[in-house]
Parts: sequence; C-alpha cells; structure tokens
Amino acid sequence: MTFQDIKSELNHRDALAGLLWISEQIGRDARFSTSMGMEDQLITHWIGRQQMNIDIFTLDTGRLFQETYDLIDLTQKKYNIRIQSYFPNTGAVERLVNEKGTNSFYESVENRKECCHIRKIEPLKRALSNTKVWITGLRADQSKNRSEMELVEWDDQFKIIKYNPLLHWSLEMVEAFIKENNVPVNALHKKGFPSIGCAPCTRAIHPGEDIRAGRWWWEASAKECGLHTDKADSVVR
Ligand code: SF4
Repeated sequence: MTFQDIKSELNHRDALAGLLWISEQIGRDARFSTSMGMEDQLITHWIGRQQMNIDIFTLDTGRLFQETYDLIDLTQKKYNIRIQSYFPNTGAVERLVNEKGTNSFYESVENRKECCHIRKIEPLKRALSNTKVWITGLRADQSKNRSEMELVEWDDQFKIIKYNPLLHWSLEMVEAFIKENNVPVNALHKKGFPSIGCAPCTRAIHPGEDIRAGRWWWEASAKECGLHTDKADSVVR
C-alpha cells in the first residue's frame, strides 16, 4: 500500500476509525510512540480497550520523572498491554557523561542537542526501523511547528509515513475524553506541568504561559526535542 493509498484512507476517517483501520490493514507494521502525555494516553486507551493490533513504545531517556515511570506501570496494568521501552546506547551515554558531565545540556544548545540526539533521536530511529506507519499523539495547537503538520504526512527525517490522529483535537476535547473515560494521566499535570519530558529539562509553567514554556526553559526558542520536525536546521527545536 502506497503513501497516497494510506493517506486517502485515513483522511476521511475520524481518529478512532483511523486507528482501527490501521490495526486491521497495517497491523504490526504500524507503531505508536508514547511519551505518556494526555494525548498519548487517550490513544493508548483506544488501543488497549479495542485490543488493536498496534505496537506501543516509549523512549526511556534515563532522565524521566518518577511520576512518568509510575504512569507507565499503571497503564500497562490497567489495559493489560506492553509498552516497549527503548533506551539510549550505553556507550554513547557513558561517553557523554564522562566527557561533559551529568547535566551538560544546561551549558549550551549544542550540548543539549547532543544529549537529545543520544537519548531520544537515536533510540527513536531504532524503534521506527522496519516500520511503515508512525502514529503520534501530536496536536496542531501545541506549537507553531505542529500547526504546520498534516493528519497524514511523510516524515523526511525518519523516512516514514506519520499519522497524527489527534492533530485537530483541542486540549479541551482531550481533557473531556480523559475525564469521561477515566484514563490515567501523569500526576504532574495537576502540579502545573502540561507538557512533560525529561525531569531536568521540564519545569511547571506559570498561569498564562504557553503550554510548552516549561520545556528547555533556559533556551529562548527551543520547544521541540527534534523528534517531530523534519527541518534540517531545527533538529532540536
Ligand atoms: S530533554 Fe534534556 S535530559 Fe532529555 S534528552 Fe534532551 S537534553 Fe537530555
């Protein structure tokens, strides 16, 4: 099935119907990446409850919050599913930490990009190898970069078809679904963390701040880790 075939099938289906179609037609050649955010939990809820034939994986950078690990455990038990963890290459992390220190990402943008590359991008490449469709929980109004994404698009960085079923959902729609269906979410959301990544690189936001203002807050413009942009000059925006 070509990119155009998949795109035309998914473009006229709503999020749940699209995921069901992928489960039936693409199966294990599709993989869903979760960072355990609210949108990801909504998709995981559907995959678990409908017993979809779709693999779920997460990137364990080794620097996640304890609350995130707790949520991984809870979610696997609640839905009786396996969320496969991908870790960074041991040698690469050892080299990074031994040469530059434990928290080198605070010292320069280059160091931060290097850490994100080792702990996120390289493991993601491994997770997506031999995969035809990459499913994400991205929403358009999370950031400017994401507002330019399409429901089904070609991701040039990872050379893969990317499906963003919740792209046009609002935060309010996601929150209402979560509440109505009793979907487990990260305990940090109630403490002012709308967007949660690695512990040393995420802070709570202040009232009125952008929802991604707590990510890499010490850098003026970096709000993406490089996983969801195909622009060569902005690998870690
Ligand atoms: S978010 Fe921070 S700790 Fe996590 S991989 Fe990127 S720089 Fe490293």
